[in-house]
Amino acid sequence: MIIKSKRVWGESTFSPAALLIENSKVAKWLPYDSKADVDYNNHMIIPGLIDIHTHGGFGCDAIDTDEQGIKTWVKGVTKFGTTSLLVTTFSCSHQTQIKSIENVVNVVNDGYSGAEILGIYLEGPFLGTEYVGGMDIKYIINPDIDEYNSYHKVADGLIKICAVAPEKPGAAEFIDHLVKLNVIPTAAHTAATFEQINEANKHGLLNMTHTYNCMSPLKHRDPGCVGAAMLNDNLYAELICDNSMVSVPACKILAKMKGKEKLILVTDSLALQGMPPGIFDCGGFCAEVTQDGSVKEVGTGMYLGSTLGLNNILRIAVQLCEMDLETAINASSYNAARLLNIADKKGRILPGYDADIAVFDDDFNTIQTYCKGVSQL
Ligand SMILES: [Zn+2]
Repeated sequence: MIIKSKRVWGESTFSPAALLIENSKVAKWLPYDSKADVDYNNHMIIPGLIDIHTHGGFGCDAIDTDEQGIKTWVKGVTKFGTTSLLVTTFSCSHQTQIKSIENVVNVVNDGYSGAEILGIYLEGPFLGTEYVGGMDIKYIINPDIDEYNSYHKVADGLIKICAVAPEKPGAAEFIDHLVKLNVIPTAAHTAATFEQINEANKHGLLNMTHTYNCMSPLKHRDPGCVGAAMLNDNLYAELICDNSMVSVPACKILAKMKGKEKLILVTDSLALQGMPPGIFDCGGFCAEVTQDGSVKEVGTGMYLGSTLGLNNILRIAVQLCEMDLETAINASSYNAARLLNIADKKGRILPGYDADIAVFDDDFNTIQTYCKGVSQL
């Protein structure tokens, strides 16, 4: 198959080109005037989006759903241009965590269509309690290698990222243990100091979970997790760039600090991602999805999250936060691939790479999504 456009993303700019796709890979860049099966004209062809931090969508989430729910969800996100993701769990009982992991393993073994499941991100239970956010505090525990191993045993190598609060007793040994198992430690829901984050980084902490949200803030004599996320160039920093969870100026500051290599846009979505306006049950809350896509508790009006897909987050990054395209596009694909150590096959549209491709109009509305060369819409 050959697709083409006047705007195909290389490594830092668009150029007119045709792409030969063979055996689920990008085989070759061809001149734009080549005969193509689909001509996308002036639409943007960019690397398929990679959402490393997403708890659910299309009525399903990682904890409450079954195998069919996961299949519905990963198929659904292709309408956002998302071509791969990490199924992200959160703090819950031991049995529920095990069951959630087993569901993912079964789906991967069974086969499915849609965005590729790259693995599992455990956001909990090894968190702090000072910045608990939406997590249920009764399931939060200190770093515990035996407990982690019980998850790892059933995960069949699928756990790629595990969250930890670096200030908790045993965190350094816990991080060492994750690194030995090739699992990426990330700091989440944490009251760690600036120094504790940098010390954890020396042990192998590599990522900051939804930077700004649920972590110690930057103060002038106590720069906290946020300060460490900004200043330590070894750390990747996730950002919920939605203009709700994080304001536009705060997004701009983080993008400026992390540059084009270390920022990762995430949705942190819940089951209501992709749902139309209406009233739904959302993790025990009676929630209303409003016209603008935000999710609020009925009665109190408390903000619970949004229904935005990663393409919407990318649009906000470019149009409201005025990130340059290279920073924003890297942050929605290539940087995630680098964090996950798969940047030799994902995150770029280059010969030999998986044909994971998003086609967007100027407002980042999805025209088509290809997962390993297969059109999804
Ligand atoms: Zn989360």
